[in-house]
Amino acid sequence: MSMQEYIEEAEQSLLHTYNRYQIILEKGKGVYLYDTDGIKYLDFVSGIAVFALGYGNREYNDALKAQIDKVIHTSNYYYNMPAIRAAKKLREASGLDRVFFTNSGAEAIEGAVKAARKYAYKKDGATDHEIIAMEHSFHGRTFGALSVTGNPKYREPFEPMIGNIRFAQMNNLESVEKLINDKTCAIILETVQGEGGLVPATEEFLKGVKALCEERDILLILDEIQCGMGRTGYMFAWQKYGVKPDIMTTAKALGCGVPVGAFLMTEKVAQNSLEAGDHGTTYGGNPLACAAVEKVLDLFEENHIIDNVREVAPYLEQRLEALKDRYDCITQRRGTGLMQGLVFNRPVRDVIERAIENGLLLINAGPDIIRFVPPLVISKENIDEMLEILESCIEPQETE
Ligand SMILES: *Cc1c(COP(=O)(O)O)cnc(C)c1O
Repeated sequence: MSMQEYIEEAEQSLLHTYNRYQIILEKGKGVYLYDTDGIKYLDFVSGIAVFALGYGNREYNDALKAQIDKVIHTSNYYYNMPAIRAAKKLREASGLDRVFFTNSGAEAIEGAVKAARKYAYKKDGATDHEIIAMEHSFHGRTFGALSVTGNPKYREPFEPMIGNIRFAQMNNLESVEKLINDKTCAIILETVQGEGGLVPATEEFLKGVKALCEERDILLILDEIQCGMGRTGYMFAWQKYGVKPDIMTTAKALGCGVPVGAFLMTEKVAQNSLEAGDHGTTYGGNPLACAAVEKVLDLFEENHIIDNVREVAPYLEQRLEALKDRYDCITQRRGTGLMQGLVFNRPVRDVIERAIENGLLLINAGPDIIRFVPPLVISKENIDEMLEILESCIEPQETE
């Protein structure tokens, strides 16, 4: 059967919740993926900010294989060595004190929101606490995560959401301040908005929100699911400004392909929120997932992944700026580190489709923005290669 025939078969069986691009990806090596016809693609998506290490990393693969041969799953009612080691490394990397492993980003958000509500409940016994989230934010597709996602289009068909969520504007401290009252238990935001359009929180805003939280004993939840794990040139994006959250969520690159996430918290929140029986998951933090986390954190250090981000990201940024200046249809470059976006004055789907036809994987963030979230091991040569293909995919008449 041809790739096209397999795609037709897929469309018979899979629920149509994605407008998929018309290729079947089969294997990967370094920063390249290959489809079932053997065609090679330079990958500037990395499974949406997941595969930081590049494909086919020998040490990572061997660590997973070794763990598979030992044991894949036990239960959270017992301890397992990979989870013990992974949790310690994650504490060291984040400076936060306690870890709960989940299976996905959305589940990490669910846990973070539950922890915040329980913290407030333990203080005053009330059951009508409020959470402030940001417009244009994205926190996932489960009900709790969707409820704090600032995109009405994603929420509306599934109303009612969980109650008492208020939306403020990212980087507008006054809009946050206005929503705070005695019921506010948490403020949640992405340190750098991803899906919402590659918008970093400004230092002033982040510090301002933190100050408001400290003043009123409100918990600051930072969603580092996309922007964390080295992508901005810091292990976690908030570390650039030293604004430490009370609760942090991580996922995506945490397991580099093995489904795993986590929420972490300070000892103070841990001592005053979730207790035995309050929260759980069958798979979360199982030996296979945690073997991945452990190895990823080791390899980040051994291979100086963050140093590479700091070296190549300014180059990507500069080349995207230059591209923007040459095309009328590109109105803005946004983002930070290896989390960049080009804002077009029109939908970008056709550009992305042409890029795929020319051997380059790109992804959008909303209809009008092309997002660049490559593996963190990308080189300057890869960036040059990407731009050459991308430029050939933007219509020549769109130049000034
Ligand atoms: C992807 C993402 C999520 C959801 O993670 P899933 O693993 O898809 O559930 C939450 N927050 C942010 C910022 C994300 O980018």
